[in-house]
Amino acid sequence: MGTDCLFCRIVAGEIPATVVRETATTLAFRDIDPKAPTHVLVIPKEHYADVATLAQGDPGLAGELLATAAVVAEEEGLTVDGFRLMFNTGPYGGQEVFHVHAHLLGGAPLGPMLC
Ligand code: ADP
Repeated sequence: MGTDCLFCRIVAGEIPATVVRETATTLAFRDIDPKAPTHVLVIPKEHYADVATLAQGDPGLAGELLATAAVVAEEEGLTVDGFRLMFNTGPYGGQEVFHVHAHLLGGAPLGPMLC
């Protein structure tokens, strides 16, 4: 996408992030403003605006993103009590950064409208 995408800049190493897992195609890093005790964002390194665009454009990559999220959930100790994995999509969905990202939230009981 280029330099005006915040998460592309994190992928490029131009903006610092607390990375918890990196694969050839995905990156997981801690949300700068966590809404739960554990709040990790999981993104594809390649730029897709939202989850619908990703799922239709590269379903395999969408699966890799989910697999990374599942590994991080395990590593963060979230799989016993459960966690939330969500994609805010578009303006009505509350999406503010238009590089697709899964919110991985856990570590405490979560209310119905966290993000
Ligand atoms: P919302 O802010 O409504 O959750 P999004 O679903 O687009 O909208 O989420 C963007 C997320 O990116 C937010 O949770 C925000 O705290 C996070 N964020 C913004 N800038 C950074 C950053 N530099 N590093 C890590 N997380 C960031």
